[in-house]
Amino acid sequence: MKPLLVVGAGFSGAVLARELATAGHAVQVIDSRDHIGGNCHTQRDGATGVLVHTYGPHIFHTANAEVQAYVQRFGEWMPFVNRVKADTGSGVFSLPVNLHTINQFFGKTFTPAEARAFISAQADASIGEPANFEEQALKFVGRDLYEAFFRDYTFKQWGCDPRELPASLLRRLPLRFDYNDNYYDSPWQALPREGYTAVVARILEHPGIRVQLSTPWEPALRRDAAHVFFSGALDQFYGFSEGRLGYRTVWWEREVHEGDHQGGAVINHTRLNVPWTRVLEHKHFAPWETHARSLVTREYSRETAVHDTPYYPKRLAADHLVLQRYLALAGQESGVSFMGRLGTYRYLDMDRVIAEALALARSWLAARADRKPLPVFPAP
Ligand code: UDP
Repeated sequence: MKPLLVVGAGFSGAVLARELATAGHAVQVIDSRDHIGGNCHTQRDGATGVLVHTYGPHIFHTANAEVQAYVQRFGEWMPFVNRVKADTGSGVFSLPVNLHTINQFFGKTFTPAEARAFISAQADASIGEPANFEEQALKFVGRDLYEAFFRDYTFKQWGCDPRELPASLLRRLPLRFDYNDNYYDSPWQALPREGYTAVVARILEHPGIRVQLSTPWEPALRRDAAHVFFSGALDQFYGFSEGRLGYRTVWWEREVHEGDHQGGAVINHTRLNVPWTRVLEHKHFAPWETHARSLVTREYSRETAVHDTPYYPKRLAADHLVLQRYLALAGQESGVSFMGRLGTYRYLDMDRVIAEALALARSWLAARADRKPLPVFPAP
């Protein structure tokens, strides 16, 4: 019997592999990198001893009780509230926009009701259903806050005019009229005590799973697999035959400091004349640990070139046209399923990726048992 082949050892691939192995299948997992964990990978820095989020900050937050219980099976999780600050060039402000931000920024002492009324007066009431990121911002926070916190940061992060980006991007962030400065609304927010790599390693620890690292995907591997579950980039799977999907890639400059460098885990730099988007001080992602020295990374974003790792799907209008062609090709597959942020070309958070991997495993196993067509994508 040929094994099932899972391409990618991030959360998506690891969870899927685990579920298939638990159902009795032999599963081979490959990853082109020399480590597991995908972009959630964490590792201990040699110079400082600090646990580093190698590919940028990953804060686990979910409202999905099944996903919460699932990840808790594979390690100890520490409660964590992400409190992000924004350096706008004229001060350091609380994010996401909340009552403190509004009072600081406008030099006011508003109550919640006064702040709500003030922001409504700032907001552009002529906008009906916001058609893009900028309209979403102007409708909900008004021009002053938009220009200070969102316009330039978004331009740096995505490399295009915010008017080209979807309104849904800004809807990721709450707008609050109280002093709650928690970056997320999700009821469960936590970080793994020993880092994400340890959690993913435990998910993959099953007698039915074999992991092979430093092994890039190539089409010839299809011959030796009973089915391929692909969590790499959809356009890469098809050799870019229909054109390239747009992604942003991110990169970091690292610095070692003594003591506490910036006083918190994440500071966003929201003006254009600062070339990086945010500065991460990794020891603040593990406040239960003590380190004399500190590892700091400055994060930059740029367009993905041929050999870069794709991170953020852009999903501009032109990308949607290319995506439709890949979806049509994928729709004809019977021996391949696509999953994860790259495999489905969607801006998914970790909890969603895990929920979809669980759902794909269930639907694939059920379809196979019933000799029905196998699912190509997880049910949305
Ligand atoms: N954003 C912004 N200013 C900020 C933080 C976020 O303009 O200080 C915008 C930006 O376009 C970003 C989007 O909001 O891509 C979503 O932010 P989120 O924090 O969810 O991004 P992530 O942490 O996934 O990179």
